[in-house]
Amino acid sequence: MIRHDELARQLYAQISALPTVDAHEHLHAEENRLRRSVDIFLLFHQYLCTQLAAAGMPEDQAEALGDEATPLDQKWASLAPYLDQVRHTGCARPAFEALRRFFGEDDLTAGNYERLSERMREHNRPGLFDRYLREACGIVLVLNQNRTMWQNDWFRPILPEDDFLCSGGLTEVERLAEWAGEDVPPTLERFLAAMEQVVTQRAQEGMIGIKGTCYPHIISDAEIARAAYAGILAQHEKPHQRRAFLDYARDQLYEICGNLGIVVVKHSGVWAGGWADHTGIRPTNIFSEASMHRRTRFDLFHAGTPTPADAALVARGLPNVWLNLCWSHLISPAQSVQALDLWLDMVPVNKIIGFGGDYWWAVENVYGNLVMAREVIALALAKRVREGCFSEARAVEIARRWLHDNPREAYEA
Ligand SMILES: [Zn+2]
Repeated sequence: MIRHDELARQLYAQISALPTVDAHEHLHAEENRLRRSVDIFLLFHQYLCTQLAAAGMPEDQAEALGDEATPLDQKWASLAPYLDQVRHTGCARPAFEALRRFFGEDDLTAGNYERLSERMREHNRPGLFDRYLREACGIVLVLNQNRTMWQNDWFRPILPEDDFLCSGGLTEVERLAEWAGEDVPPTLERFLAAMEQVVTQRAQEGMIGIKGTCYPHIISDAEIARAAYAGILAQHEKPHQRRAFLDYARDQLYEICGNLGIVVVKHSGVWAGGWADHTGIRPTNIFSEASMHRRTRFDLFHAGTPTPADAALVARGLPNVWLNLCWSHLISPAQSVQALDLWLDMVPVNKIIGFGGDYWWAVENVYGNLVMAREVIALALAKRVREGCFSEARAVEIARRWLHDNPREAYEA
């Protein structure tokens, strides 16, 4: 605990004064958020739903915490029996930090949820992002993936790779063709050319990255992909054919990204939702892909969960891979401290990206997530200062790299 570590607290204070790049969010445009009739339960929605459901809360009730139409008393009645079971999890902490920082309360109770919701609505007006992100957090740049090209002077867009790969079949191929201003490409080669055209166009419009998932890399043969593409056009492709087409197109896409200087983001280690098997998206799956596309920069998400040492081995051996701690502080601050401790041994300090909030609507929660990130970084660095590895001043220099310089370098943003 940072509270009991004087040196870590000193470092925390210095780290809190640094400008921060929020290296991963899903935030909807501010004007969309302002149109919502928000309430305080939104802070306890999204990632916490999985743990609330695991604690026994019916899943539809956990989901309804983010639903505007559900009455507040109903939300409280359904959440109250489970709040104590999850309040010490990583995902819960940002909500409590937001209560303290923005609403002057320590806890959510039967007596305050209505008042808190009213105040949250009062805050929900133009300048919301400035107040909660720039002023409260010192965030100077946000790398944002909300499935649109929405951007401004400090939000830069990342799009899902599926937008270009057309993983949904013919309808998506037709949409890509429309974006490219062409008819539906009749051959695989023409499809890939249209894909390149659209990616190039988006890059010119400001897209700085694409996001995919760290599935095992399967190298697909052009001949098989050609036949599979013909099957997609005729709408009689089998699932394994669609996969073969996607595997082939993805490798082409990552080469294009390398040519254009677009970063390939790889989600790995853990799914956000419940009932999910995490074993298919291990961070080590990136070895084959990143070695094959050496001129492409890869940003590997979430702390190497469940084994941060694996991620360290990835970044130690592959010069084109960065390690990103977005969302990792929510999954487990303890694992994030452990990750940084291992990574200080194995990974150059310029390859680690220290923070990303990973929220869709609850912009209030970014602050608490950043508090956690700063604590994690302060604890990991304080240990090294105490061991005599480097000075306190050097520790702050490293923190500045992790929270600011490295994401700018990786994304050239
Ligand atoms: Zn995310």
